[in-house]
Amino acid sequence: MTEAKLIPALNKENLSHFSKTYVPSRLLLGPGPSNAHPEVLNALSLNPIGHLDEAYISLMSDVQQLLRYTWQCNNRITLPMSGTGSAAMEASIANFIEEGEKILIAKKGYFGDRLVDMATRYKAQVSFIEKPWGEAFTYEEIKYEIETKKPAIFAIVHAETSSGVLQPLDGIGDICRKNNCLFLVDAVTSLGALELLIDEWKIDLAYSCSQKGLSCPPGLSPFTMNKRAEEKLGSRKTKVPNWYLDLSLLNKYWGSDRVYHHTAPVNMNFAIREGLRLIANEGLENVWNRHNTNAKKLWNGLESLGMELHVSEDYRLPTLTTVKIPPAVDGDGFRNHLLRNFGIEIGNGLGELSGKVWRVGLMGFNSCEENVDRLLNLFDTELKKFSIFESSTF
Ligand SMILES: *Cc1c(COP(=O)(O)O)cnc(C)c1O
Repeated sequence: MTEAKLIPALNKENLSHFSKTYVPSRLLLGPGPSNAHPEVLNALSLNPIGHLDEAYISLMSDVQQLLRYTWQCNNRITLPMSGTGSAAMEASIANFIEEGEKILIAKKGYFGDRLVDMATRYKAQVSFIEKPWGEAFTYEEIKYEIETKKPAIFAIVHAETSSGVLQPLDGIGDICRKNNCLFLVDAVTSLGALELLIDEWKIDLAYSCSQKGLSCPPGLSPFTMNKRAEEKLGSRKTKVPNWYLDLSLLNKYWGSDRVYHHTAPVNMNFAIREGLRLIANEGLENVWNRHNTNAKKLWNGLESLGMELHVSEDYRLPTLTTVKIPPAVDGDGFRNHLLRNFGIEIGNGLGELSGKVWRVGLMGFNSCEENVDRLLNLFDTELKKFSIFESSTF
């Protein structure tokens, strides 16, 4: 063996070894990740088993069955992809777009922009319609655009986490079917938290993530597609240009063949099984009601403290509230104060809303009355300390 001079893994200051991994305790009331449920953490800490072990195969079937319930669909191809929400987002583009095909993207925030970026990279012929961050599209606007542009895919974000808007999806599935177009929905901040009916709303393709409504850490992205989408995938003339996210390959593992594709992140699948089981035990409608009730409590509480909300109540998103930073307040100062002194994370505005709003998330396990009370109490007692003018009141 050669005498290799290794770079030492030492802390320069005291030349001692690193201490054991330590992470401070946080209450995550921002745009995600959200806290994982304690039972999910227990499942996550189990020793891995082989990803082709029959015990694991049976767990995969549970995950798929629980996902179908949570998505409210009977789609054969329903699986959690390895990777965060953006992985299934990219899969939805990579598998269903062939070079030059038309996609219409309705964008009203940061994640609509990401869809445009991805579709452009896969060489789609991209067109989009746009709304200011904080507004939603009307049924008529969408209908007109689909009928005139005749895209192969229409994509829209259900719960826009950047602006705090919940996009109504009623009737869009029918327009897409009449116009021979696939209906793609980003349900990253709605799955497992807000009413979402994949089959009834005629959604052909949808994706989500593990760390928002499902009370898990980030790492998996649930995906579902129906027969219409299967037909489109089956009629591709070219190979899917992304190996890792190729659904025909992934489905050989998640379908009945169980052929190795990539090593499943088995512990994350233990975790998501547990997160989904907790949702099924509580009952989807109860879960949706809990998210709506706690969000309303937050909205009322903030307004009675004199705060203004960025989105009108008709389109306001229960899982993520955008609160206007009062003009006389140091927004970052307050946010950092909550984190450093109370262990509570809330988010800054993203993109054009940076410095204008805070983003408060109540997702999954974190959507509970105690968390709302705790946060409202801090807005009441601590915010005045961050007034730029000394005697400013709210
Ligand atoms: C969080 C989010 C994503 C991206 O998911 P990641 O898990 O961060 O990759 C996509 N769309 C929406 C609406 C989101 O909120």
